[in-house]
Amino acid sequence: MAAPFSWIRPEPHGVHIVPADVWIDPSRAVDTALVTHGHADHARGGHGTTVATPETLAIMELRYNTREGATPVEYGETIRLKGGVDATYIPAGHVLGSAQILLEHAGERVVITGDYKRRADPTCPPFQVTPCDIFITEATFGLPLFTHPPIEDEMAKLLGRLQAHPDSCVLVGAYALGKAQRVIAELRAAGHKQPIYLHGAMEKMCRLYEEFGVDLGELRLVSDHEKDDMRGSIVVCPPSALNDRWSRRLPDPITAMASGWMRVRQRARQRNVELPLVISDHADWNELTRTIEEVNPHETWITHGREEALLRWHQLHQRSARALALVGYEDEDD
Ligand SMILES: [Zn+2]
Ligand SMILES: [Zn+2]
Repeated sequence: MAAPFSWIRPEPHGVHIVPADVWIDPSRAVDTALVTHGHADHARGGHGTTVATPETLAIMELRYNTREGATPVEYGETIRLKGGVDATYIPAGHVLGSAQILLEHAGERVVITGDYKRRADPTCPPFQVTPCDIFITEATFGLPLFTHPPIEDEMAKLLGRLQAHPDSCVLVGAYALGKAQRVIAELRAAGHKQPIYLHGAMEKMCRLYEEFGVDLGELRLVSDHEKDDMRGSIVVCPPSALNDRWSRRLPDPITAMASGWMRVRQRARQRNVELPLVISDHADWNELTRTIEEVNPHETWITHGREEALLRWHQLHQRSARALALVGYEDEDD
């Protein structure tokens, strides 16, 4: 008998499933990769075979031009890999197509989350708690100071500011994959029916979301319109465009940014953000610890983020945990 869990091995550039010879979210090109979601620190081009949800594969094709070796797996579907390893894709609630991967081998169960959150998100199905022996979690916001407020509060702030300044526009910096579409969908849920204007870099990803059935309402491109058309409107752009020359074409923009990091005032100041919106697609501290309690694994492995406080929390709660030293995981999304 092999030692328990010797079939799953954390390496610097990803988690290796030894009997199947597949890698989870590897940071370099491999023969076979199982990919949790489309963000750049998890999904890379150049693999021989990429196994992911159809949504993630479409995102990867759009962003990295990868089409070769794409193998779709639906949520809830189990595929049999080499060496008697079963892999099941389970919703992670992070962005369109995002999945946790349950791996089963020799009676042992390991769940690798990729990135996840527990808040409702109109653009993707919710995270599902999956009991397992080893739970491999992210910890992007793994500090007690990180608590994300209800998104309704942040939407109310945004719409309130817009109403108070009908001759301006509110320019919202949001990551192009996930955050932008979630903010738009939440604005619609809050009753905002006006057209929303997009920076050109956001258009294709928004269209892809729509193709997968996410309703974003009427979207217009900034480049097709005059300054005066956009007064009293919301404009969404990538964070890099917030302080860019590009924004000069907008009518007196009030700059906002949607990110979990907006909890930290200094980060908002660095980007000259007037209206910080604390909106994250990652679990906050309470979601991380609640999830670990609910999953109740024998051991937690922490892939990326701030692991020290979460390790300490495990100690205090008589739980066992270790931090994996993975390289190349720096979240573009937050
Ligand atoms: Zn992500
Ligand atoms: Zn990540």
